[in-house]
Amino acid sequence: MKKHVRTRLTHLGRDPVRDDGLVNTPVGRASTVVFPSLARLREATPQPQGALHYGRFGTHNRHDLEAAVADLDGAEGAVAVPSGLAACVLAILSQVSAGDEVLISDNVYWPTRKTCDAWLSRMGVSARYFDPALGAAVADEITDRTRLVYLESPGSVTFELSDVPAICAAAHAAGCVTALDNTWATALGFDAVAHGVDIVVHAATKYLVGHSDAMMGLVSASGECLERLRMVNMALGHSVSPDDCALALRGMRTLAVRLEQHTRSALAVCDWLEQQPEVREILFPPRPGDRYHALWTRDFTGGCGLLAMLLPPLREEQLARLVDDMELFALGYSWGGYESLILPTDPRPLRSATTWDRPGSLIRLHIGLEAVEDLIADLDAAFTRLREFGS
Ligand SMILES: *Cc1c(COP(=O)(O)O)cnc(C)c1O
Repeated sequence: MKKHVRTRLTHLGRDPVRDDGLVNTPVGRASTVVFPSLARLREATPQPQGALHYGRFGTHNRHDLEAAVADLDGAEGAVAVPSGLAACVLAILSQVSAGDEVLISDNVYWPTRKTCDAWLSRMGVSARYFDPALGAAVADEITDRTRLVYLESPGSVTFELSDVPAICAAAHAAGCVTALDNTWATALGFDAVAHGVDIVVHAATKYLVGHSDAMMGLVSASGECLERLRMVNMALGHSVSPDDCALALRGMRTLAVRLEQHTRSALAVCDWLEQQPEVREILFPPRPGDRYHALWTRDFTGGCGLLAMLLPPLREEQLARLVDDMELFALGYSWGGYESLILPTDPRPLRSATTWDRPGSLIRLHIGLEAVEDLIADLDAAFTRLREFGS
């Protein structure tokens, strides 16, 4: 029987018997791998999880990381790539040919959209966007050119959830492959494969690495989808650093405890935010009262620390009063590290199939592992600055 996920996080992706008793896989930096004979050199083909062959195909660090993530995702295999965006793009690129169309959820990570619109079109592949709220009605969007349906749920700016099982069922019925960017929930919060997803994408830069010190992407799949992923990844010449793979594996050991704490602290921050008169809405599906909470409860087993608050429309000067001079919340892109972050966002220019019509300024918060009392005090001071500044 498959062990509990916490046990797997502790024991997957390392092999002390292979590695002379070392608890962790030693970092194996390599370009050339040398062989003791011509026969062994001839034998050694680039096996995804097999013998070491050449540095670009990875050493034990990469193979261990890929095997661990595939296990967590319930997929046959995984491919590590140099960034989360590379993972999003590989998932799409590996499945399409000239003439195909990709149907993409309108709340998709913005750089993924940019790649599809600006570059995929040059390869003869078109991208069309659909309302993430569609559910089974996505069937009406699928044409005989549609090859892939690509989802992100929840989106990392607007926190809209999609009915992933319904969309995947409709896609499969029409002969399409499905992919999902599962960065927000990770494999621990959302079992994508069990909900019908063929290709699971992770910006491991976020929670898997978990310490804001490495870039990494992973894509999991089985069968033909996995073969295509591996083939195209090899064709693109992507290579990931063994040091970064070691960091990702180190991050993985504490993923469950970190995510639980991030979620707990985020919910506590939500309780406080709810009492602030300026907060029009809190966007965090794990919060009872969130408009997607019922769907979240149906499909998810865990959350994380990323949420947003909708404030009245703020001018740039007011926004600056709010986010400048924070003591603990730092201003910056990305999230998923141990530290708290704040970022004003604007979903309006990032959509095409639908419009974002909830008026106000959207502020994204990443709730880190600091004591939640201190985080609330920092937010309290920010709201005080904003109130004192006036309109
Ligand atoms: C950050 C992010 C990515 C891209 O990851 P990078 O490692 O920054 O390239 C992709 N998808 C989502 C949802 C993200 O939040």
